Amino acid sequence: MEYKELEKIAKECGFTHTAPLAVTTMQMKQEVRDMCAQNTCGQYGKNWCCPPGCGDLEVCQQTVNQCKDGILVQTVGELEDEMDGEGMMEAQEEHSKHFLAMVDRLHELGVPMLPLGAGTCTRCKVCTYPDAPCRFPEKKISSMEAYGMLVLQVCKENHLEYYYGPNAIAYTGCFLLK
Ligand code: SF4
Repeated sequence: MEYKELEKIAKECGFTHTAPLAVTTMQMKQEVRDMCAQNTCGQYGKNWCCPPGCGDLEVCQQTVNQCKDGILVQTVGELEDEMDGEGMMEAQEEHSKHFLAMVDRLHELGVPMLPLGAGTCTRCKVCTYPDAPCRFPEKKISSMEAYGMLVLQVCKENHLEYYYGPNAIAYTGCFLLK
């Protein structure tokens, strides 16, 4: 699938900003994974899409190595000020909706891809990890951080803004084509 088509689908799914993504810019760092292990988000060891369930860095690297270029997608939400927690949560929920919609759309079109979102996989109310296999292995969503990526660095190297000022918040994800 051409970038222009991916961009059109992303906009239809609700993302506010997009940019072409070069797979060669996707560096995976152990220090990012070490931050996951500190479990500040509370999802470490709770989901097939987060460490350690998503595999070690070598496994993630092998998955990315099978991919071609793709697209970076963002949902930028407005905030009343930098302390507007409600506004942040709303933007995050919007981003998750956009992201799930795009995964489903590409899946329906039969486009092989690796989707990497923001935060853990929220496709099911409760993840089956670790007691049973993932319910939707083709549609599950790991995060860029779970793959050891620094979102700021990936955005910078692909010429997409990351910070939109004190009255905005950006959630970022990406789709790599296989
Ligand atoms: S699709 Fe469901 S079972 Fe699979 S990782 Fe996501 S939440 Fe867990």
